[in-house]
Amino acid sequence: MPLVDLDRFDFLYATRVKGMKSAVTRDLMATLSRPGIISLAGGFPDTKAFGEEAFREISQAIAPDAAQALQYGPTAGLESIKDVIVEVMAAEGTPARQEDVFVTTGAQQGLDLIAKVFLDEGDAVLCEGPTYAGALNAFAAYRPKIAHAPMDRAGIIPVAARETLMRARKQGIHVKFIYTVPNFQNPTGVTMVAERRKELLGLAREFDLIIVEDNPYGMLRFEGEPLPSLAALEQEEGDVDRVVYLGTFSKIFAPGVRLGWVHAQPGILHKINVGKQGADLCSSNLSQMMISSYFRNADWKSYVKRLNGMYRERRDAMLDALAEFMPKEVHWTHPEGGLFVWATLPSYLDATAMLPRAVAKNVAYVPGEGFYAGGAGKNHMRLNFSFVEPDKIRRGVEILAETIRERMEL
Ligand code: PMP
Repeated sequence: MPLVDLDRFDFLYATRVKGMKSAVTRDLMATLSRPGIISLAGGFPDTKAFGEEAFREISQAIAPDAAQALQYGPTAGLESIKDVIVEVMAAEGTPARQEDVFVTTGAQQGLDLIAKVFLDEGDAVLCEGPTYAGALNAFAAYRPKIAHAPMDRAGIIPVAARETLMRARKQGIHVKFIYTVPNFQNPTGVTMVAERRKELLGLAREFDLIIVEDNPYGMLRFEGEPLPSLAALEQEEGDVDRVVYLGTFSKIFAPGVRLGWVHAQPGILHKINVGKQGADLCSSNLSQMMISSYFRNADWKSYVKRLNGMYRERRDAMLDALAEFMPKEVHWTHPEGGLFVWATLPSYLDATAMLPRAVAKNVAYVPGEGFYAGGAGKNHMRLNFSFVEPDKIRRGVEILAETIRERMEL
């Protein structure tokens, strides 16, 4: 086999490619599908829960509309799915109007389009530290500076966020938006408390910028009371303005349909529409029709409830196992929902360097480094609890604890 030269066309690639890197979770995909591996790595929902029969029913229900399902559709999405989105947002406590909804190919495309529409090279984005690695990837193509504001158990720390914004202003750096995952954040599992949501909105007003509220996990709450979204808080005080809300069907239905949405002010949606035309013309009609058929005819809320029951049990299995097996120097978050726990190892340990050893013992996780733009986070790991059964989670955590102990003793 000839050696493949991956750098062969380096002289032709756009400058933006330099800042782009492949996500660790994407790279881990091949490893994760290896038989016997216990994957605490991916952010995978358990799609087995949906079932073949329910899938067959949806396919049959839309069969009479096959010609439309196989056709191109409007860039902003079909009316029928926008109605479903309005219903889902209402169920999660955010009033929405159909005309403020724009369908995307997953929330991930929403992130890319927002960056495409707002960011010039050298602009800045204020993110939680740590933040969703896929957002950093989406933003990177537009070459912004990333400023992280630290978090604690109550979410992003507004005082720190304000200091960062002040510093950027003094340096003449234009921060275009604040990116936040307020509920059961990826990667930490932390939820931003209500007071801080208001403070963040206040900051956006003070510095005249947009807030991108990415909320894939809001409905995956196992305990505690739901909190108002930033979009809902803003609406209480006026109308749809500076909060750009991202939703997705990936976690309440299935990621395989690749459907999400943006809810925003009409001017922003217009720009996003133009951006999407250049990206993929429109999202899949087939997916949109499958989802609208299911959400209209089936009891989708019961399905979400069933998922939550299952994930809750798995979260408990993970928290119990962490408490039982981890050395006392290791700490972790206690999420009230979502898919992830964030573990913090002693600062001298490097979770990236430890990963091959864990994988050799058949356990995978995501090292913390990818969730920061500047290389921080080495002594953290993101642990997913939605994808594997409780007994495997327990075994996986036990092996991880063993691996960490080995390193501590070196
Ligand atoms: N935002 C966050 C915070 C996520 O965790 C994910 C998926 N893991 C996405 C966006 C992308 O989701 P989608 O499948 O809708 O593209």
